[in-house]
Amino acid sequence: MDLVSELRRHLAWAEEEEDVLLVTRPPPPPPPRAMPRAPAGQPAPPVPARTAPARAPVAAPAAAKEVGTAPARAIRKLSELPKVERLREEDRRPLDEIRRSLGECTRCKLCSGRKNVVFGVGNPRAELVFVGEGPGEDEDAQGIPFVGAAGQLLTKMIEAMGLKRDDVYICNVVKCRPPGNRTPELDEIAACDPFLRAQLASVQPKVMVGLGKTAVQALLRQEVSITQARGTWREYAGVPLMPTFHPAYLLRNPAAKKDVWEDLKKVMKLMGKEPKRP
Ligand code: SF4
Repeated sequence: MDLVSELRRHLAWAEEEEDVLLVTRPPPPPPPRAMPRAPAGQPAPPVPARTAPARAPVAAPAAAKEVGTAPARAIRKLSELPKVERLREEDRRPLDEIRRSLGECTRCKLCSGRKNVVFGVGNPRAELVFVGEGPGEDEDAQGIPFVGAAGQLLTKMIEAMGLKRDDVYICNVVKCRPPGNRTPELDEIAACDPFLRAQLASVQPKVMVGLGKTAVQALLRQEVSITQARGTWREYAGVPLMPTFHPAYLLRNPAAKKDVWEDLKKVMKLMGKEPKRP
């Protein structure tokens, strides 16, 4: 009977080993040596079932619970993103705490190609927040949003508004660089959305600027033509949102700078500030 018990135990172990090898994870600890023995004349007790290891790379459960209300799910359209609730004072949490919750995030496939998680930068109590699409090569290398050529142009735009870069808060819809600077996909936007929401709830801006089509669409949960939407006031969670062109677009189309400047003047007017440039 001992032989039968030993054989069953070995088969159960072998099945698990095969499972473990398939997911290339370290093997679980060896099974206990002492196996239950059956009383004489009775069948051997069954070998207890063991739980198979998880297959997908996921973040620590505690971190996921802290910010995300639910695991990211597959979505097919922007309207399936979670409804945007108003930003409430009681939802305010320190930005560094939110950053810690994000950790070395593996919640979407963008984690595989990034060098750094690019969280956000600027004044944690900024009245004005700029939201872009995602990090590019320079941002990925430095871990800071909008530091490449487009970022330098954004800095000039901010200064033309009579502000310093440190006065505002700057972040992106996704915190990891999409390969080849492609547009972030819906599942990636959905996975990162709780952290964007948490950042905005932390800063509680008075005004927001959406930079480019992807950012504006993600904030509004709907498809938009950025050419038509720019310059027209929208709303995110009760905060006025001004859609405008992305600085990277302006590098390719300098003639559109005057349109962006008109949009930024509307932002300054709402904030009761005089632009530096006429
Ligand atoms: S893009 Fe956001 S959700 Fe995806 S891995 Fe990076 S931090 Fe995590």
